[in-house]
Amino acid sequence: MYSADINKIIPFSSVDGPGNRTAIFLQGCNFNCKYCHNPETRNLCINCMDCLPVCPAAALSDKDGKVIFAAEKCIACDNCIKVCKHGATPRIVRMTSKETFEKICENVPFIRGVTFSGGECTLYPDFMREVFVLCKQIGLGTMIDSNGSIDFKNFSDLLEVCDGVMLDIKAYDYNEHIKVTDVGNDIVLKNAKYLAGMGKLFEVRTVVVPELFDFRKTVDNVSKELAPFLKISNIRYKIISYRKNGVRKEYRDYKSPTNEEMNEAGEIAIKNGFSDIVLI
Ligand code: SF4
Ligand code: SF4
Repeated sequence: MYSADINKIIPFSSVDGPGNRTAIFLQGCNFNCKYCHNPETRNLCINCMDCLPVCPAAALSDKDGKVIFAAEKCIACDNCIKVCKHGATPRIVRMTSKETFEKICENVPFIRGVTFSGGECTLYPDFMREVFVLCKQIGLGTMIDSNGSIDFKNFSDLLEVCDGVMLDIKAYDYNEHIKVTDVGNDIVLKNAKYLAGMGKLFEVRTVVVPELFDFRKTVDNVSKELAPFLKISNIRYKIISYRKNGVRKEYRDYKSPTNEEMNEAGEIAIKNGFSDIVLI
């Protein structure tokens, strides 16, 4: 049985896929997005112990050089996250697929499905598959929220039990994608078409940061490339305004797009054939 490092579980979420869902955030990411507003989800804890003294609730302790987190004592003050220099958090729980499924079951019958997010949840494909198999047995929907960095072609067994993927396309141009994330986007773009061809691309998302990349070019190219697949199944294009909440200090000075720029982005996607556009 597989297990994963779980950052948090939101029992009921209406923003992580269709309907009311349990959203599960897995720890660790292979991108370094400048505008990440959960930067503490990027890395695994290296047990440096810097956060222990700032915990006012004695929720953290050192056992044989490993941080132990006592969830029942935590008052969610976030002091530990603020002090961590490693993009990590000590508030991680390692759970097996069975334990995770049992947690999900506490929310049935009030949920329509489950969404894995992160961090980057596809770093744990076998774990997700095991949870999805169990979810399917009780009729729950299954979605993945991903940066598209794994080649989904190699994970057909995961896709078999996954209803759809919400895929970030952070920039269309390869070099601009590196500027935003430190990583190229060849696999991301390949995945977009592959998933769309299977009717499993539920949503693509672009965060608009006008100073960081040419958002018009990204929305234009992404919507043009994906438009032919709209006859297979609907694809939502969610265009998200950059906001500085939670963003690391060194990247907080970007300006948010104006309403006019956001509307312009939406109109580009409509012109190319998209009808399900969400601007937020
Ligand atoms: S969460 Fe960060 S500060 Fe705390 S022990 Fe781990 S790496 Fe160190
Ligand atoms: S968030 Fe929880 S674990 Fe972290 S410092 Fe605050 S009380 Fe301690």
